Amino acid sequence: MTGKPKLADGHRPQGASSEVIRDINRRIVLNLIRTRHPISRADLARLSGLQRSTVSLIVEQLIQEHWVLEGPTGRLPRGRRPTFLRLNDERVIIAVDLRPSQTTVALADANGKFISQEIIVTSSDAQAAMDGLIASIQRIVTASRRKKIEGVGISLPGRYDHSVDRLVFAPNLKWRDVDIRNPIAAATGLEVEVENAANACVLAAVWFDHMEQCRNLVVVTVSEGIGTGVWANGKLVRGLNGMAGEFGHVPLDSQGPPCGCGGRGCWEVFGSNRAALRYYLESGAQSADLSFPDLLSRADHGDPRAAKALETMAHYLGRGMRMIVAGLAPERIIVVGDLTRSWHRFGSLIEAEVQAQVLPGGCVPRLVPAYEDGMARLRGTVALVLQKHFGAVSEAQG
Ligand SMILES: [Zn+2]
Repeated sequence: MTGKPKLADGHRPQGASSEVIRDINRRIVLNLIRTRHPISRADLARLSGLQRSTVSLIVEQLIQEHWVLEGPTGRLPRGRRPTFLRLNDERVIIAVDLRPSQTTVALADANGKFISQEIIVTSSDAQAAMDGLIASIQRIVTASRRKKIEGVGISLPGRYDHSVDRLVFAPNLKWRDVDIRNPIAAATGLEVEVENAANACVLAAVWFDHMEQCRNLVVVTVSEGIGTGVWANGKLVRGLNGMAGEFGHVPLDSQGPPCGCGGRGCWEVFGSNRAALRYYLESGAQSADLSFPDLLSRADHGDPRAAKALETMAHYLGRGMRMIVAGLAPERIIVVGDLTRSWHRFGSLIEAEVQAQVLPGGCVPRLVPAYEDGMARLRGTVALVLQKHFGAVSEAQG
């Protein structure tokens, strides 16, 4: 949260009921405590523009509801000693990052700090994978009996249609029409929220990485495939059936290699981790069972074929991003994936490729590797669960 949030007392929106105003004020205070903790009541009043008495009432309620804890006492040179407030870290979220080969199930507190995690194999059979995931969540629930679990947030490598609760498109997972939310909710008794992985990374950037002021950003996740999450005019874009953002399946060459979606020559068959491994294999290098991190390491140890394969991947990543720049004009493109560990190798090549063709009047967005890359999806699912208490991410802005 930056700057002063929308004022709700003394500046009553026309027609808004007192409950609505109370709710807005509560979210303003809760978000200030989340982003500025430890914080005193006086600073809450100053930053929110709310009256001291309004802030005190809201804080008392939040303490009673165990959202907020008091203490320790601040030290000032003279006068009253303020008590600092912070979020109660006994309120926790189960965060799930489901990927084609493995699934991470983690426990995080309301500040986005991770307490524990376990990794399980993702079965290619949807039912077996769901059973494994439910068992893992139940293990965490059992181990967290003393904590208050707010819900389960799940990041998926595909598009989920929230209106019918179905995974509608996940070519690298090869599941289709799977209801992921309801079986987990029924088995655990917890509220479950699901979101596409790239969209989850958008939420992580806006919620935890202080990018609230950026109204237009795109996250590009690069792993087995390429996913994009679009934040336009301060809102997440989902589109019809939740299918918006599939730039990874726009063909760059309709005669190109086959893609998991059934098409040919999609952006992701040229710019993903799998594509780089293919380039390496095609160069005649020995690459049995090589992983993408292995390829990065070979390039760092001076293997010229590995370096060349990564260079080709970077070239295509930049070429595909031209679609995003021309179509959405984002201020920033955040790249998520193992490649960010070798950003010195990728960053300038991708940027040069994007810059090679910018429309007259257009701007080149800032291209940045994700902060805490490996955790971006998980952190996004924490925001996904918390936003029902703190307000949707787009509302939480100042
Ligand atoms: Zn495709």
